[in-house]
Amino acid sequence: MLYFKSCPKCITGTVEHNHDSHGAYAQCLNCGFMRDLSDGISGTELNGLLAAWRNDLLAVEPESADAVA
Ligand SMILES: [Zn+2]
Repeated sequence: MLYFKSCPKCITGTVEHNHDSHGAYAQCLNCGFMRDLSDGISGTELNGLLAAWRNDLLAVEPESADAVA
């Protein structure tokens, strides 16, 4: 499953929801941002996680919030 323009880090990147021998993960095809996921996570849940990760990144770099907004 692909999530276009959903990357929490680079914003415009496409995030791929995939899984390998280690389990499920989400990875940005543009910047390489990656997070492990619970197995069987739904698209709705992943969208919520993407939003939460984006907020986390903005909290770390508050000056970037103006550029996004
Ligand atoms: Zn990205």
